[in-house]
Amino acid sequence: MLAMRIVSGLLALALTSASFGADRYSDFTDRVRVTGLSRLGAFSLLKELTTDVGPRLSGSDGAEKAVAWGQATMTRLGFQNVRLVPCMVPHWVRGNTETLIATDKYGSFPLTVCALGTSPGTPAEGVTGEVIEVQTLKEVAALGERAKGKIIFYNRPFEKTTVSGFAPYGMAGDQRFAGPAAAAKVGAIAAITRSLTAAEDDVPHTGTTRDPGIPCAALSVVAANKLSAALKNGSVSVNLKLSCQTLPDVPSASVVGEIVGSEFPNEVIVMGGHLDSWDKGTGAHDDGAGVVHALEALSVLKDSGFRPKRTIRVVLFMNEEISGTGADAYFEYAKNSGEKCVAAIESDSGGFAPRAFSTDYKRLKRLDRWVPTLSTFEIERLKPGGGGADVGPLAKIGAVLFGLEPESQRYFDYHHSDKDTLDKVHPRELELGALAMATLAWLISEEGL
Ligand SMILES: [Zn+2]
Repeated sequence: MLAMRIVSGLLALALTSASFGADRYSDFTDRVRVTGLSRLGAFSLLKELTTDVGPRLSGSDGAEKAVAWGQATMTRLGFQNVRLVPCMVPHWVRGNTETLIATDKYGSFPLTVCALGTSPGTPAEGVTGEVIEVQTLKEVAALGERAKGKIIFYNRPFEKTTVSGFAPYGMAGDQRFAGPAAAAKVGAIAAITRSLTAAEDDVPHTGTTRDPGIPCAALSVVAANKLSAALKNGSVSVNLKLSCQTLPDVPSASVVGEIVGSEFPNEVIVMGGHLDSWDKGTGAHDDGAGVVHALEALSVLKDSGFRPKRTIRVVLFMNEEISGTGADAYFEYAKNSGEKCVAAIESDSGGFAPRAFSTDYKRLKRLDRWVPTLSTFEIERLKPGGGGADVGPLAKIGAVLFGLEPESQRYFDYHHSDKDTLDKVHPRELELGALAMATLAWLISEEGL
């Protein structure tokens, strides 16, 4: 049995080498594969970012520490022209109090919540009101006068029937992004939202919400189910206490470093993720993974002895989570630089094993020729889509956008919660993402677009 396994293992190795041999990029993929998988550098960097730096919400001391870490790390890795692109960022602070006590005809019981980012705080005694459960923003608008003085409870669950783990977030997201503002518009005094996750546990998931105007918080899925069950037996009132507050904006920065192209230094390929995270967990998947994917991709390329024809630049964007001011400032910087931004590759979908790159559907057919090379690192296909929130603006100056799409089933179990920590990331899966990014950047650098 063991001998059989060794023989078939050798056969597989021979076949793999043979198929690599057919590819003009086999020398590239062989060398970056050995460099990357033997050192697993992405995970070491992620360990530093999540444990030495920790959570890094825009405007916090952690975010400033992350900027310093990004600069020092790029310098240590031997990148060129390491610099900052400044931006202003919001400064929202969670505070120590976030409680929700529900009262129905049988008595009172606590439910697990956390404030949504940018929520105003409540008075010390909290806000108390009768709960109205809804599924959609449309329902809230239709409540009209009946919403006055009430607390709106958005309880539309994650859609279960999509295969993609990412799709349900888009489908349920308006409850969090726009739900509190819609509730405020009809006179509600607070809004509470079922966490944007399919994980059936008692951990709430935060995230930003647009101009809420009223205190707002996310309920864990367990808490949302409990509240909904109580409402089936009659009226329920809740008392919500939050001590969060918004302080004045503060200056911060995105971190930039590169390897200058040997033939076309003025043509730039951007690779990046966002340096800020939420204050829950340590942002290991969101977006520590994207940060270290980009750093390790350029570092592996360099350490494997390759010098790109075009400039490959890593950009660690600040403030993706709340209002995207880092991406806006980098866009202005790129627009005025006199360079040509050829492409921008974003990783902001977690650190699981790579599966695909999304890009402009008009280019898919032509770029399909790269899939055999990319498949070395388990990229199965190119699919239609964009890059992500941070690189999105660069399309306006002609950049072709790409987004790394890792395996998607577990991402929202952890996203924006206390569970998004280093132990949820697998070192080899993470490294494969970095190697896939390195390979895509190399293909663009060699052939252009
Ligand atoms: Zn993110």
